[in-house]
Amino acid sequence: MQDLRSLIADAQERKVAVGHFNVSDSEQLRGIFSAAQELAVPVIIGVSEGEREFFGVRQIAALVRSLREEHDFPVFLNADHTYSVEGVKKAVDAGFDAVIFDGAKLSLAENIEQMKQCVAYARSANPAILVEGELGYIGGSSKILDEVPSGAAITDELLTNAAEAQQFVEATGVDLLAPAVGNLHGMLKSGKNPNLNIGRISEIRQAAGVPLVLHGGSGISDEDFRAAITAGTTIVHINTEIRLAYRKGIQIALQDDREEIAPYRFMKGGVKAVHDVAHARLKLFNGVA
Ligand SMILES: [Zn+2]
Repeated sequence: MQDLRSLIADAQERKVAVGHFNVSDSEQLRGIFSAAQELAVPVIIGVSEGEREFFGVRQIAALVRSLREEHDFPVFLNADHTYSVEGVKKAVDAGFDAVIFDGAKLSLAENIEQMKQCVAYARSANPAILVEGELGYIGGSSKILDEVPSGAAITDELLTNAAEAQQFVEATGVDLLAPAVGNLHGMLKSGKNPNLNIGRISEIRQAAGVPLVLHGGSGISDEDFRAAITAGTTIVHINTEIRLAYRKGIQIALQDDREEIAPYRFMKGGVKAVHDVAHARLKLFNGVA
């Protein structure tokens, strides 16, 4: 089976993107995995610090690895937004396939300094692991938002600039870069997040020289996704839409049968809802008609 690095290189070549979906439990994982299997496309499972604490760092690593091995299928695990070098080391030690150190709220110098420690540790422990850095603050939580999070970079002057991206990648040696290009974590109540700056994505991609990751994919229009992928985005993160679908799916299943107490029955509604979101997004990202 191809490793994650070469799958990402392939996706870049073909101008498609690998979908990255967050989970908090095994049922969401099942929904996402079955969607990827149906479409025969690779998929990355993400766990934030909160999600992996709930799941268990070693437990989610074991579960994703068991799916990959049993089905001989390209499913990989990423330590999403990790805010400390210690947290990154823990995920590397647990056998994650990719890690993100998020120093977007630090000064550029401090972000580079801590990022370098993460890259050095990851390389020494596992040369195959991918390390991602973040430049530009895009808000911090995957929820339904009343307004744009305070401090988030959405005006052109605040977006990540190409020169800084180049400096950051050269200084740290990261494999992947997540810039602020008009994207936000979370989804605005209106259902429509601000437009992406596609020109900026192209500039950053050229200057940085590494594949780009688009965070906060929930609420972005299909047209913006297609343009962002063509411009050099190779991984797209979806979390809020998965959470929303899961909650609604379970809620409906419980309302439909108020007497049901078997989790393997009433949870099916949540699994199906997550599957459907992941299926639609993976089709779009992979250019499947
Ligand atoms: Zn993110």
